[in-house]
Amino acid sequence: MIRVRFAPSPTGNVHIGNIRAAIFNWLYARHTGGKFLLRIEDTDLQRSTPEAIQKVLDAMQWLGLDYDEEAVYQTHNRPDHEAAVEKLLATGHAYRAKKGEGGECVLFRMPTEGTVEFDDLVKGHMRKKAEDLQDFVIVRSDGSPVFHLANVVDDIKQGITHVIRGDDHVENTFKHIQIFKALGAPVPVYAHLPMIVNAQGKPYSKRDGAAFIGEFKEQGFLPETLFNFLLLLGWAPGDDREIMTREEMIEAFSLERCKSSPSRFDMKKLLWMNGEYIAHMPREAFRAFFAGRLAEAGLPPQPLACTLDELIPCIQIRTKTLNDIPKNCAFFFTDDVAYDPAAVEKRLHKPEVPARLLAVAEAFEKLPEFTEAATEEVIRAMAAELGGMGPLVHPVRVAVSGVMEGPGLFEMLALLGRDRVLARLRKAATL
Ligand code: GLU
Repeated sequence: MIRVRFAPSPTGNVHIGNIRAAIFNWLYARHTGGKFLLRIEDTDLQRSTPEAIQKVLDAMQWLGLDYDEEAVYQTHNRPDHEAAVEKLLATGHAYRAKKGEGGECVLFRMPTEGTVEFDDLVKGHMRKKAEDLQDFVIVRSDGSPVFHLANVVDDIKQGITHVIRGDDHVENTFKHIQIFKALGAPVPVYAHLPMIVNAQGKPYSKRDGAAFIGEFKEQGFLPETLFNFLLLLGWAPGDDREIMTREEMIEAFSLERCKSSPSRFDMKKLLWMNGEYIAHMPREAFRAFFAGRLAEAGLPPQPLACTLDELIPCIQIRTKTLNDIPKNCAFFFTDDVAYDPAAVEKRLHKPEVPARLLAVAEAFEKLPEFTEAATEEVIRAMAAELGGMGPLVHPVRVAVSGVMEGPGLFEMLALLGRDRVLARLRKAATL
């Protein structure tokens, strides 16, 4: 029976690298029919506050990382850590010694000859000569057990068969293997996941942008997106699939397909993927969310000139993050258009623009019917003389919406209705 675990050290923020390890462990357990366990490594009493622990639990719940069995708190295993130390002392695998100025510590004895080796499922065969390995502290002079000891003793107690974690722990693994052996416990299988790096190949950190789960949530990303995106940072299904359902991921996941090279965090890809997930959200869920955001923003529940059902499809397929709403579509609900200063500067503040906007308004006014096709025809005909659609399409968009992004222009014009479009074109000509 496969038993894996997520063993976070709560610090107050949940970094994407950590939660990615949780995702890989979860998928491995669900794929193999094993157990996914949670162990909170809360021995740093300064940082492991109840709030910090709650952040971990919230992140897991948000991402749908449900765990089997009750969560284990490392601090509760202190008697097990102490018993293990006694055993190591009794068998000569550990010894007491004075360290520096401090009092007496317990050190673990590493081999003095030969090698320590293990087969990592991701990184391949790993090997270190004994002379490059030193004895290390397992109990501090204040009696508190060190990470290496607590981590291994807890893994033994929880019957962990596979340790899947970030490759910042590779060096530790040479130590951990020796503790497992000294305690007469089977050594688990290891899989160390590659580091997540920025565009420059350096470890991805908060300086590069959002790095903590809570930030992605605040920025309007869906948990489904983040789960899928983080899975692909270090794993690929072996075909060209990128967007996958939870069931497909469980079905396809294997540790053998994990990549060993660093995984580059690509914000563009994350935005694209979030847009795909939003586009495929059930219409009802999107509509409920949309209505909530309108209310929060103090906008009326119905658009000015069309129905919500007419409007929603064209908004939904273009929304990249939930926070785009209602920012990028408020102009459908109010005539008090909020003009983005950057958009005005870039698209409207040009000497030739006002006359063009007025000309477009005049041509629109003459149309027998104000439809998507009719407005497009007008713009195309006028654009032919200007050598392209851009010089008309961009200013018209900003004139009627106030922003540079939004639904297709002609769709948007039809949904706003002729009267409003004419009024806004004429007003924008004076901005
Ligand atoms: N608490 C350690 C960490 O968060 C655990 C590493 C492990 O998975 O063994 O880095």
